[in-house]
Amino acid sequence: MKMENIFVEKFGGASVNSAEAVRNVFKILSMEQKKRVIVVSAMGKTTNKLEDIVNKWFNSNIFYDEQYENLIEYHNNIIENLFSTKEQEGTKAKISLLFQELKSKLIRLPRNDYNFIYDSIVSFGERISTTIVSDFLNANKLTNKLVYAIDLIKTDNNYRDANVDWANTQKAVEETIVPILEHYDTVITQGFIGGTKENLATTLGREGSDYSAAILAHCLRSNSMTIWKDVPGLLNADPKRVENTTKLVSIPFKEAIELSFYGASIIHPKTIKPLENLSIPLYIKSFVKPEDEGSVICANPELNPIVPNYIFKDNQLLLSISPKDFSFIDEKNSASIFEIFARNKVKVNLMQNSAISFSVSVDENRNILPQLLEDLQKDYKVRYNTNLQLITIRHYNQQAIDSVLQNREKIIEQKSRTTAQFLVNMQ
Ligand code: ASP
Ligand code: MG
Repeated sequence: MKMENIFVEKFGGASVNSAEAVRNVFKILSMEQKKRVIVVSAMGKTTNKLEDIVNKWFNSNIFYDEQYENLIEYHNNIIENLFSTKEQEGTKAKISLLFQELKSKLIRLPRNDYNFIYDSIVSFGERISTTIVSDFLNANKLTNKLVYAIDLIKTDNNYRDANVDWANTQKAVEETIVPILEHYDTVITQGFIGGTKENLATTLGREGSDYSAAILAHCLRSNSMTIWKDVPGLLNADPKRVENTTKLVSIPFKEAIELSFYGASIIHPKTIKPLENLSIPLYIKSFVKPEDEGSVICANPELNPIVPNYIFKDNQLLLSISPKDFSFIDEKNSASIFEIFARNKVKVNLMQNSAISFSVSVDENRNILPQLLEDLQKDYKVRYNTNLQLITIRHYNQQAIDSVLQNREKIIEQKSRTTAQFLVNMQ
């Protein structure tokens, strides 16, 4: 691959949720001329609404007409506000065809595989948004080519959480995007979706568009990747939970991986690795103030500034597991307990053991828990506490701990050199 100086930029649902927002995307892209691949999510809350349509059909065989009509109207409204009366006909016709295809597909598909149906239908959100954005940019002389992620991001058929087939994705990127970029400055594609060998739609998991952009950045050896968001950059805490947050200016890759491991929700957890492997910096910038500096996740060794970072995980369940035969929590028992967690796909968020009891905190998930408990209870006595919150502070100090804990009772406390974690009752 010979291409150099390619940039990947991702626009999420909030950055394209209205005609005004789409115009702002055009404004941002016009600030600089460069070879770019633009990854776009579904508009606003479209993915949630498509999920509702699929669920209603799957669970009760009812086609959710009202939601469907609302979605058509929402997108048509955006088109009408973006284009002149004459220009809008073409785009409206394309969108109308996509909606017809969505409905007939849903009704036709055999109702036996929820995950498969989900991906076939929910992927329309991104197909629709990219069609509108691409047409709008073309109408405004920001000439671009729309490429289907189904043909680009090749995956297995693990629907709803598809795994990337890196070799075939690399090949598809080189065969489709690279030749286009020799003639055009801008390629547009869908976030979140991929395709199997047979070109059936898959998805990469909710909020997966960041990951899509990182996959493309990796395969293109891009200079950088940028995520445009409605916040000024990465903050040291969710501003809804903590007063006086600080913007992180630069974050080492390793630190970003740690933060997402502990549950920081701002970046999709799979996003960092493809970038880190090739040292591709990830910029997080505000689409409201695109001139501002934002944050960068990169190969720098130090977090800047070094301030406490707070991560809150609600709805935790504490399981206290002890062998029925009063044996120790030794290597054999630990291995067998972990095997049960892995088999049930339950991630352990915190663990602590004594001689005869092993305590773990996990996300409360009513669909998975009964089976997990049944499996554990064969050899172990299990007690549990619900309604807990896990607070993690990276780069903690006493003042940081006091400020979030106040006087709450600590059920479990654990500290390493950089990280303090507390399991407390939810407030
Ligand atoms: N549209 C998808 C979602 O809402 C993917 C994304 O936005 O990243 O989950
Ligand atoms: Mg999103």
